[in-house]
Amino acid sequence: MGYRDLLDMTDTVSVVTGGASGIGLETARALAACGSTIILLDQNEESLARAASALRAAGIAVGAAERLDVTQSAAVTAMADRLFEQFGAADVLVNSAGIARLNGGLETPDDEWRLVMDVNVNGTFWCCRAFGRHMIARGKGSIVNLGSMSGIIVNRPQTAPSYMASKGAVHQLTKALAAEWAKSGVRVNALAPGYVGTDMTLKMRERPELFNVWLDMTPMGRCGEPSEIAAAAVFLASAASSYITGSILSIDGGYTAW
Ligand code: NAD
Repeated sequence: MGYRDLLDMTDTVSVVTGGASGIGLETARALAACGSTIILLDQNEESLARAASALRAAGIAVGAAERLDVTQSAAVTAMADRLFEQFGAADVLVNSAGIARLNGGLETPDDEWRLVMDVNVNGTFWCCRAFGRHMIARGKGSIVNLGSMSGIIVNRPQTAPSYMASKGAVHQLTKALAAEWAKSGVRVNALAPGYVGTDMTLKMRERPELFNVWLDMTPMGRCGEPSEIAAAAVFLASAASSYITGSILSIDGGYTAW
């Protein structure tokens, strides 16, 4: 295969959780631009419908857009089984569904801790397991999990122990599955973005005491664009990264270099 063809995703099927907005939606758009048939999964029906129709209006073929709450393990398994039956494959799984809560250690109630873990850690695992089973049976597949620099460093000045712990777990889950499944032809990697200009981050501009510190602590002095995360997701999803598994790729404008 020539170098120019390594990012060609023609004849592949890509499933993106959290695909209705932000990084997930942009990653789906990028995978489609490289030729993949995209399947969007999200628990938010309204934004899912909006995203699918915006993509279709832009001439992008959306294979399916289905409501799925990734915390529901049985529903995740049923969805993976149905999609494999319908599409015959899922070559790529991007786990972008995620939430953040900023309560400190003493203020985090039980239900909030459980919710963050449920979406970010359990949801990622249920999806890896359900889709990974089929990928292993086919002998190929690439899984890209959304970790975070918050799984590597401790953010400041805000507190978010549940989020940071959850992303640390996503990184270690990524490495564990990568090692376990490496000989089955299934690669598992994670992206560790810094502050990215999605709704999750940009709404914090209302709190300059946080937002300005974030920019100040980022050597490049700006937030990343969703497209800059999506491009790296395509790299990890594609044959361009065929010898990469168990990696946590930092995309943070240099934040973790300081
Ligand atoms: P976003 O809020 O724009 O998108 C997240 C999507 O996940 C939403 O569409 C939401 O409906 C969906 N979702 C939430 N709970 C779900 C559930 N239980 N089941 C299915 N879908 C669910 O956020 P984003 O900024 O695009 O973040 C995407 C991922 O990237 C997250 O895992 C986040 O932690 C990670 N990340 C984001 C940043 C950032 O600065 N934006 C930085 C590092 C990592």
